[in-house]
Amino acid sequence: MTQNQSLVAAGPPAGARIAVDDPATGAVVGEVPDTSAEEVARAVERARRAQRGWAGLDTRVRAGFLARGRRWLLAHREEVADRIVEENGKAREDAIVEIVYCAAAFSYWAKRARGLLAPAKVRSLSPFVLGRSMYTRRVPRGVVGVIGPWNNPLLNSFGDAVPALAAGNAVVLKPSEQTPLTALLMERMARECDWPEGVFQVVTGAGATGRAVVDTVDFVMFTGSTRTGRQVAARAGERLIPCSLELGGKDALVVLADAALERAVNVTIQGALSNGGQMCTSVERVYVEAPVYDAYLTLLRERFQQVTSGRPAGLGSVDVGAVTFPPQLAVMEDHVEDAVRKGARVLAGGRASAGPGRFFEPTLLVDVDHTMKCMREETFGPTLPVMKVADAEEALRLVNDSRYGLQASIIGSDMKRARRLAERFEAGCVTINDAQTNYMALGLPMGGWKESGLGVRHGAEGFLKYTRLQAVSANRFPMRRDMHMIPYEPSAYRFLLRLVDVMYGRGLRGRAD
Ligand code: NDP
Repeated sequence: MTQNQSLVAAGPPAGARIAVDDPATGAVVGEVPDTSAEEVARAVERARRAQRGWAGLDTRVRAGFLARGRRWLLAHREEVADRIVEENGKAREDAIVEIVYCAAAFSYWAKRARGLLAPAKVRSLSPFVLGRSMYTRRVPRGVVGVIGPWNNPLLNSFGDAVPALAAGNAVVLKPSEQTPLTALLMERMARECDWPEGVFQVVTGAGATGRAVVDTVDFVMFTGSTRTGRQVAARAGERLIPCSLELGGKDALVVLADAALERAVNVTIQGALSNGGQMCTSVERVYVEAPVYDAYLTLLRERFQQVTSGRPAGLGSVDVGAVTFPPQLAVMEDHVEDAVRKGARVLAGGRASAGPGRFFEPTLLVDVDHTMKCMREETFGPTLPVMKVADAEEALRLVNDSRYGLQASIIGSDMKRARRLAERFEAGCVTINDAQTNYMALGLPMGGWKESGLGVRHGAEGFLKYTRLQAVSANRFPMRRDMHMIPYEPSAYRFLLRLVDVMYGRGLRGRAD
């Protein structure tokens, strides 16, 4: 069987459709094609053709297209926010954060691309390459497949397409089947901004469509579960194409005895409940040093009771919205029940709310330990277990007692001590007196250790991954023959050894290059 035949067999039947519901009401709000593998292959072919011209444009011209996209996004922000809230069920304020992020991404990557893509000179004192002019240059990978999750339909999906486009790639975006409507709006943006046809395309569909993307593109940027991330990495490995994976997390927050407690509580609530706790970077467990545990908990409980949750409408309508992904409700219930069965107490919330729509009450758990699922497995909901620890060393041991390593945070007044402790976290992202805010700094790499992922987004590394590196060495003054050329001449090698003695020999440290 050829590769194409196997793709066709794996895909949905031609013409199949997927209904999209509003998690806050249960009403169907849209319907999108369930794209077959054949159609994905055709989209990737179109992207491949378009990419050649796109890569050939000056970075300033590409920046102009991105600027048009930014203006379109801001001009249509109410419509985009409506769409995000409608298909994801999040608070409108959380939808606005996605729009602000993408406006910034358009601007940031358009500006930085030129410098990051510039050729870099390389020097060498090796006697074998004397006189050569050497440099590295960055070449776009070709077609980048971005596979996005449902928790941030704009930020995690389209947000990753922007740097890939700025680097000269075409992008085929596969949004989650749960939230594909926002991505389709961005396809409309590309049309209305006269982006070259085929440079940015959206293929809607479920897992089989995602697999078809991995089967055909040149690079995969995936955000989602660790389980699916492994499958993507395995298939990318078979095809020998690179991938970047941003996967699950079980992010911890440590409150030190010298923490400003008001700040600690505000950071905790925001970190745990923004986006309904449905973020890879949500604070999912808190460790508090014993001397401030009672005072912190009293304040936290008080604030938890003030959090509003329910169906999102305009600004200020609700703090915590709906549960986007239906199976996630069962995970939340399971983690709370498991904790209570093993001795935890529920200080706030604890249950799914009655429909219509899918909601889980903001939930505060205490008397928890690491035998409980809520401390070890990703919950991905508005639930927060808080644990008292004897001291910072115990907190550190528990933070690192996890298969995940995406982000960890620490709150404390002594910055030197907080930094020393934070640098011992086994996590790709560390924040001090903050949680999650680092994501908004596009110059700061963001990625997970352990089972939280491979590679990073943001920063120079998160941009250059969308390029291949070409190393060029040019002999500007070619001589008839070099010192090291057949037929070998002994005198040349005696000279070479004397040279080596001078450069790397006894008594000298040796040249680094
Ligand atoms: P998945 O990892 O299953 O899906 C993420 C994306 O990959 C979706 O677009 C999905 O399509 C697609 N996909 C599914 N299977 C494949 C495949 N074999 N090859 C390529 N793409 C594929 O996440 P879910 O949306 O199902 O959420 C499950 C769990 O993931 C959550 O409970 C949560 O713990 C975690 N999660 C983590 C996120 C993060 O930011 N790191 C974000 C969202 C979820 P489709 O959705 O259409 O099936």
